[in-house]
Amino acid sequence: MRIDILTIFPKMFKGPFTESLIGRAAKKEFLKINIVDIRSFSEDKHKKVDDKPFGGGVGMVMKPEPLYNAIKSAGVKRKNSAYKSPYSKPYVIYMSPQGKTLNNKIVKNLAEFKYLVLVCGHYEGIDERVINYVDEEISVGDYVLTGGEIPAMVLVDSIARMLHGVVKEEDSVKNDSFYNGLLDYPHYTRPAVFKGHKVPEVLLSGDHKKVGEWRAKESYKRTKERRPDLLIDKVEIEK
Ligand code: SAM
Repeated sequence: MRIDILTIFPKMFKGPFTESLIGRAAKKEFLKINIVDIRSFSEDKHKKVDDKPFGGGVGMVMKPEPLYNAIKSAGVKRKNSAYKSPYSKPYVIYMSPQGKTLNNKIVKNLAEFKYLVLVCGHYEGIDERVINYVDEEISVGDYVLTGGEIPAMVLVDSIARMLHGVVKEEDSVKNDSFYNGLLDYPHYTRPAVFKGHKVPEVLLSGDHKKVGEWRAKESYKRTKERRPDLLIDKVEIEK
C-alpha cells in the first residue's frame, strides 16, 4: 500500500513514522509512505501557502493552487496519461473535523485501498474549492486540532495495523477492541499477585477452553458496561 501525506510541516512525521510498527512496516515495504511538502507546489515566489479569507475575518486560509498541484502530482489527473504505476488512482482524503468520524469499519475499508493521499490542513482550513478534488473527509473526533498532521498519523497507524504482516501476531488485531464490534477482554501478566491484587484464577488454570470462555464473557460484559451502543450496532449488523 502507498500513502502520500500532503503537509506544510513534513518534519512532524520523522519520529512517528520511523519508529515502532509503522517504521517496521515501511522497512518491509508493506507500506510506502511519501511525505509531500505542499510548499514546494506553491506558484508564489515566496512559496506562500496561505492567504487572508475573502469576506474578512480572523485567521488565514490555505490557498487552493499549491494543494491542487500537490494532489495532481499524486496521480489524480493522470488517469488517461502514460502513467503506468499500479498506484495511478489514489483515493484522496482530507483530514477535517467536519468529516466522517473515524471508526474501525472505516479503517478496515481503507486498508483495502492500494493508494491513499491524505491532505493535512492548517489555519482556518483549506480553500473550499479544493474539496472538488477530494474523495472523502475524515475526522478523528469532535474537537479541533491545529493541523491535519496528527489526524493523518492516527489514520495511517490504524490502517497499518490491518495490513497483513505488520502486526506479528495477526490474531491480536482480531481480538482488539472494535474489530468484532466488542471491547477487548482484560489482560494480565506476571506477577500473579501485584500489591495484593490477584490475577483471575481461570487464567492460571492452563485450561484453554475455559480461558477462551472467560475472555469472551469479559469482553461482552465490558462492552455492555462501557459501550452499550456497540452492542446495539452489532445486533443491527448481524440482523
Ligand atoms: N476552521 C476549521 C473548522 O472549524 O472546521 C478548523 C480548522 S483546524 C484549526 C486546521 C486543520 O486541522 C484542518 O484543516 C484539518 O486538516 C485539521 N484538523 C483539525 N481538527 C481535526 C479533526 N478533529 N480531525 C481531522 N482533522 C482535523
